[in-house]
Amino acid sequence: MDIILMGAPGAGKGTQAARLKTALGYKHISTGDVLRSEIASGSELGKKVGAIIQKGDLVSDELMLSILKEVVSGVQEPIIFDGFPRTVPQAEMLNTMLASLGRELGKAVEISLPDEVVVVRLSSRKQCKLPSGEVKQIGPDFSLEDCAAQGGEVFTRKDDSAESIAHRLQVYHQQTEPVTAFYKQAGKFVAVNGDQHPDQVLNDLLNVLK
Ligand code: AMP
Repeated sequence: MDIILMGAPGAGKGTQAARLKTALGYKHISTGDVLRSEIASGSELGKKVGAIIQKGDLVSDELMLSILKEVVSGVQEPIIFDGFPRTVPQAEMLNTMLASLGRELGKAVEISLPDEVVVVRLSSRKQCKLPSGEVKQIGPDFSLEDCAAQGGEVFTRKDDSAESIAHRLQVYHQQTEPVTAFYKQAGKFVAVNGDQHPDQVLNDLLNVLK
């Protein structure tokens, strides 16, 4: 069964999704990663979404759905959705899409984190671009030393600027938080505390996903 990882930007969705992928054999789909690779490739889609992402706004539901359909089609493994759905219409569209593909949604898990901690985390966040083009987040599973050893280049995401962080948090509370009510009503919502060591967060995630 597929799962959704929810939570504010910086809650640790990407880090934990990569860990769950390794632990449980999921396919990890991060819509943010998909959009950033479109921007890096200079595609028409990338040109369309670049300014929206930098500002911290959301890409339109229609565009996201068409992107997601393409990414999900043909996937055999259970999926972890990271960064999708971000609005109630996206959640409704995801239900329809999964049903049409004969897939089933297990749980929607929120990694909860207070806004103050989000701001501190995002303002100090660093990424590493490897020579292959792959981007890794500097953190518990990939250090600055790992980045240097693999010939990578350290950089800060454009949307991790102070202005964009504040805006993304506002967008999160206004547009994404209502998605939790959607999954509570469906009896699929669970939450874990994201303000603890990443190993403990993983432990809690594995427990609620049992
Ligand atoms: P993330 O890497 O998940 O923080 O996503 C980075 C940015 O990509 C977001 O701030 C949005 O601008 C855009 N984005 C990612 N996923 C979605 C989505 N499901 N709906 C709309 N915009 C998205």
